Amino acid sequence: MDAAVAADLAQTITGYDLWHLALPVVSRRDHGIGSVAGECEVVVLRLTAEGGAQGFGEASPWAVFTGSPEASFAALDRYIRPQVLGRRVGDRAAIMADAARAVAHCTEAKGALETALLDLAGRVAGVPVWALLGGKCRDAIPLSVSLANPDWAADQALIDRISADGVGIVKLKAGFAGAAFDIMRLESLARDHPDIQVRVDFNQGLEPFEAVARSRDVAAFHPDFIEQPVRAHQFGLMREIRQAIDVPLLADESVFGPEDMTHAVREGICDGVSVKIMKSGGAARAQTVARMAAAAGLSAYGGDMFETGLAHLAGAHMVAATPEITLGCEFYQARYYLSDDILETPFPCEGGAVQVPGGPGLGIAPDMDKVQFHARQSA
Ligand code: MG
Repeated sequence: MDAAVAADLAQTITGYDLWHLALPVVSRRDHGIGSVAGECEVVVLRLTAEGGAQGFGEASPWAVFTGSPEASFAALDRYIRPQVLGRRVGDRAAIMADAARAVAHCTEAKGALETALLDLAGRVAGVPVWALLGGKCRDAIPLSVSLANPDWAADQALIDRISADGVGIVKLKAGFAGAAFDIMRLESLARDHPDIQVRVDFNQGLEPFEAVARSRDVAAFHPDFIEQPVRAHQFGLMREIRQAIDVPLLADESVFGPEDMTHAVREGICDGVSVKIMKSGGAARAQTVARMAAAAGLSAYGGDMFETGLAHLAGAHMVAATPEITLGCEFYQARYYLSDDILETPFPCEGGAVQVPGGPGLGIAPDMDKVQFHARQSA
């Protein structure tokens, strides 16, 4: 290693700032486990090295899925902060191990921490985050946009917009308004948009007594896959559904980190998995989940939560450095769901694919005026 880079990575981290943001969104969205309307909430972390370089990370919790923004903020402010201040920029693995011991769960907070450490190390070393995660296997990641508006006409207008942008994959959020609404939308997609690839995600929305039959009805439309029809812990039912349908079954809420992946493989509950930094507790553990899946013969895609472009960037660098993630990504909120993203320049999407940034760190920084404007609390 270049001596100057080694010296830069030996700098200590002297600044640690947090903002809890509430960001306006363009529409209501319904999922099997809950709804989002009005705004979504994230926590932004900024680390500053003694030389003045800065690194940013985002926790993007959803209370009904991973945890609350208040828990993310408290984990970062009270329990993780002492593990970080005074440590060396280059000691990411040691800091992450200490953060894991300092507070249980709070995977979104740990995801924010690792993203900020990667961004900071990348900026002082002059390399992109994907280089720190093992090197790049792709320059662009096919983008899937989720359809979850209870107003189907509004989602049809969204399909026209994303199609014009070159997006060729949609994920239909199902299981929140009855079987007839799901079948009507699948028929509409098959009839009006035969060229669009369709995926279906129930977000745990089906009751055990109806789950097999409704999954079969959806499978008749031959989507790419059906995702998480039942509750996260219902492994037996997931296995039963998997055996009853002839399209791949994916696990999302059932698999957070590598520990869950071990169980999922042993129990045979899925053909693939949604890999998310917010579930795994950081990019490195997300890569581990993807590699465990691939080793067991399962597929993976790059999922997300209700995120800004900052968390999307972390996901894009992670997927860019993880060849085992072969089913594209879902980093669409910054462009298609938030009223106003917080990045200095738009999150890079072109021709229906996320374009992997090439600059140092994450490649794009947040606009601090926007962060301050949307902040509800800071520390
Ligand atoms: Mg999902």
